[in-house]
Amino acid sequence: MSTENAATFDCPECDVSAPSTSVPYDSLGYVLCPVCGYAASPNAEGSPSAGRSPSAGD
Ligand SMILES: [Zn+2]
Repeated sequence: MSTENAATFDCPECDVSAPSTSVPYDSLGYVLCPVCGYAASPNAEGSPSAGRSPSAGD
């Protein structure tokens, strides 16, 4: 996806964009949204099948 700049953090929660160098990171090294606090962690804590469940078909 060429629309995503590797040096820019785009928050999926509040749709803010900021340079990756100007955003905070958590103890695990994942970027944190400076606006809403969204953590770009691959495993969101406490989200049992909140997103996409393993599709058993298509
Ligand atoms: Zn955000």
